[in-house]
Amino acid sequence: MSDPQIAGAQTVDTIANRGSGGNAPIIRVRGLTKVYHVGEVDVHALRGVDLDVMAGEFVAIVGASGSGKSTLFHILGGLTPPTAGTVTIAGKDLAHMSNSQRTELRKGTVGFVFQKYNLLPTLTAEDNIKIVEYIGGRSTEFTPEFVEVLKLLGIADRMKHKPSKLSGGQQQRVAIARAVVNHPAILLADEPTGNLDSQNSTAVLGLLKDLNRRLGQTILMITHDPEAASYAGRSVHIRDGTIV
Ligand code: ADP
Ligand code: MG
Repeated sequence: MSDPQIAGAQTVDTIANRGSGGNAPIIRVRGLTKVYHVGEVDVHALRGVDLDVMAGEFVAIVGASGSGKSTLFHILGGLTPPTAGTVTIAGKDLAHMSNSQRTELRKGTVGFVFQKYNLLPTLTAEDNIKIVEYIGGRSTEFTPEFVEVLKLLGIADRMKHKPSKLSGGQQQRVAIARAVVNHPAILLADEPTGNLDSQNSTAVLGLLKDLNRRLGQTILMITHDPEAASYAGRSVHIRDGTIV
């Protein structure tokens, strides 16, 4: 897991510079507002969020439950439309995207890791990862570079196992591999250690840090846990839908 040969400079160039247009942030959020209408009640989940993330950064969004973290995550991933404000990801304005462009964004530009690993129980680890490759329209053979990523994640020898034969930490590492297999410009992780014990949490957080440092992977991680946030290069705090 500590092979210093893994990250080639070329890989760093490819991932960190993708679509970022020089020094423009890879994620640019301005005045982002989200209001959920629940019956007669308006829930103001986001109240004017501004955020810039540069390519190659590992940023933690830290806030208590109900502060709007998941709402922000879903909007950044093109899963939920905002009420107002702008989101630009890798130079593309989300508001001006068609549904098919948003689907493209989810396939190619943004990789997701959730608290629950969401692996398909009947498929091996390998097929759980490759199912994304089929969707992305890529080759179904892992590239040598990706095999190096699997080694970095410590799961290269677990590929023939089904999720039930893997520990929680291993399952989350498979989910991380699945999220990065199409070389997303951004890895979005929502409470990635929320279901893990402290030992597995430490391992997964260390691996995210390695992906960032060694492969230049841009990561936006959402967490309520200051300890988890300490693995990021920078923390941004959110309270009641506002960056504080
Ligand atoms: P966090 O991830 O920080 O816990 P959320 O973004 O899930 O915060 O929630 C922010 C606020 O928006 C909360 O008050 C929550 O109840 C509300 N909320 C989230 N999702 C919905 C939804 N789909 N419909 C209505 N209210 C929601
Ligand atoms: Mg949440």
